[in-house]
Amino acid sequence: MIAQFDSIIELMEAFPDEQSCVDHLTAIRWRNGEYCPYCGGTELYHFSDRRNHKCKACKARFSIKVGTIFEDTKLPLRKWFLAMWLITSHKKGIASTTLAKDLGVTQKTAWFMTQRLRYAIRTKSFNAPLEGTIEADEMYHGGRERNKHASKRTGGKQGGSGKVAVLGLLQREGELRTTIAPDTKGETLQGIIKANVVPGSALMTDSHHAFRRLGSIYDHERVNHTLGEYVRGSFHTNGIESVWALFKRQIIGTHHFLSAKHFGRYLGEMTWRFNNRSIGEGNRVNALLELANGRLTYKELIA
Ligand SMILES: [Zn+2]
Repeated sequence: MIAQFDSIIELMEAFPDEQSCVDHLTAIRWRNGEYCPYCGGTELYHFSDRRNHKCKACKARFSIKVGTIFEDTKLPLRKWFLAMWLITSHKKGIASTTLAKDLGVTQKTAWFMTQRLRYAIRTKSFNAPLEGTIEADEMYHGGRERNKHASKRTGGKQGGSGKVAVLGLLQREGELRTTIAPDTKGETLQGIIKANVVPGSALMTDSHHAFRRLGSIYDHERVNHTLGEYVRGSFHTNGIESVWALFKRQIIGTHHFLSAKHFGRYLGEMTWRFNNRSIGEGNRVNALLELANGRLTYKELIA
């Protein structure tokens, strides 16, 4: 059975010790049947310690953490679960310095935890195509924003000089997709749109030249911001622009500085949180646990 909890107190009560966390992770990970993380075999032996398992096929012995972001962690899972609560329940995310204090771990450990959780969160962006009414808009991370805070930064931490371009696609009453665009050429941005928006959908964009000539595929409305036009009836990009405003507050308010190198993972985190904003804190932790498959080693992270 998968435990439910709706507050930090309930979370702590549901998971009083390591074993209860292991049981919960096991219930979530094997909710569709147990399997070996090495060979995928589905016939397993279970050790009486409720921690270790052995695969009949490949004979490997493993714990439920193998093949997840918790694989080689020395931290108790309670701290991970609490970190997951904190990172998913705060609308603006949480800085690793704050997390370190809340969990009683070093700042380096907290930073690594947040990076691993972001790795788990990375949305399977661009899975299901969007349809209906879609607002498309591009956003830039870096550039002027960075210069504004130059006095607060120290040398050598700037992570590259270029701006990062992000394309966002928001289905009204639906999901958000975001992706880092290699450039903002029409061909590139339109390629992303065509791959992710069902033909015939209503498409709202601003008058950016990259969005030209989409009218043959979509019911395309362009709002001309340069002429001071922002809303024409239901024709506007206010939804996606609010998302960008929210993201910018998260980046500036919580993380102060964000390198281009790690930006993709933060973008994934913010997008995931946005798409899961109405499911409740406890469900968000469980949803995140479902994504915990796959590891990220410190070596890979700093590479
Ligand atoms: Zn196996």
